[in-house]
Amino acid sequence: MATQIIMLGTGTPRPDPERSGPATIIVANGEPYLVDFGPGVVRRAAAAYQNGVTALGPGVVNVTTAFLTHLHADHTAGYPDLILTPWIMGRVKPLKVFGPTGIKAMTSHVLAGWQLDIANRIKGIDQLPESGCEVKSYEIEAGQIYEDDNLCVTAFRVRHGTVEDAFGYRFETRDRVIVVSGDTAPTDVMVEHAAGCDVLIHEAYSQQTFSQISPRWQEYRRKYHTSSQELAKLARRINPGLLILYHRVNVGAPMSAPNPEEAVLDEIRSIYRGNVVVGHDLDVY
Ligand SMILES: [Zn+2]
Ligand SMILES: [Zn+2]
Repeated sequence: MATQIIMLGTGTPRPDPERSGPATIIVANGEPYLVDFGPGVVRRAAAAYQNGVTALGPGVVNVTTAFLTHLHADHTAGYPDLILTPWIMGRVKPLKVFGPTGIKAMTSHVLAGWQLDIANRIKGIDQLPESGCEVKSYEIEAGQIYEDDNLCVTAFRVRHGTVEDAFGYRFETRDRVIVVSGDTAPTDVMVEHAAGCDVLIHEAYSQQTFSQISPRWQEYRRKYHTSSQELAKLARRINPGLLILYHRVNVGAPMSAPNPEEAVLDEIRSIYRGNVVVGHDLDVY
C-alpha cells in the first residue's frame, strides 16, 4: 500500500476558515501518523475519512501516534480535541505523543483541565475504557526518535526565533521519504536531512507581503520564518521530488491583507525549477 500524505491543516495562527491550524497525516502501510495538532485537527481528520482516507478510522479512532514540531498554540490548540474526541468516539488504545520539552507538562495540564468530564465518562453510564484516554508523552532530542514496522522517524532542530525547542521531522516509509519543516527560518540542517527526499513540506512567506509590513515585523519574520526566496534557494540544494508549501504566514499584516498563492509560487519558481505546489486543507499527495 503506497504511502499517502494528507494535508489536514495548512494554516497559521490566523483563524482562516479555509485553513485549519497545522496538522499533517502520513499514512504508512495503512497506519496513520499525525504531525502537529492545530485547531480543527479532528474535524479535518473526520473530513479526510469521509473523503476516503479510511485508515483514520470512523471518529478518528485510529490516530494513536503523533509528532509535535513545537509548542506554539497554532500547532497545539487541537490537543484536547485529539485526546478526548476520538476516545469518546471509541478509541481504546493510548495516544502516543512525541514532542519537545514541555509536552509532558502540557499533556498533564490538558488531562487535569478535563478531569471532571474524563471521570464522568469512565465511571458514568458511558463506561469508556480508561486506556483510550491515556496519553504517553515523550520529550525528544534530535536524532532517530521512533521506529516501527511502517516507518522510521528522525527529528532535527530547526531555527524558530526564541523558541528553543523546535523540530523538523524526516519520515522514511517503505516507499517514500517525507520531510516536514515545522516552523523555521532557513537552516542548513534542512538540507542535511531533506536532501533528495521525495516530498518536502515546508513553510514559506511571500516576499510581496514582506515588503508591506513594518521593520519590526520584518525582523520577526527573518528570525522565525522562511521567505519564498530563501526556500527556493534551499530547494535548489535539497532537490525534493515535490515541494509542498504550507503555513504561509502573513504576520505583521492586517487580517484583511491578501496573501495570494500565485505570488509566493511565482517568487519561488523564478529561482527554483522543480515541482512546487501550495498545499490546501484535505489535499492528498
Ligand atoms: Zn506556526
Ligand atoms: Zn511557531
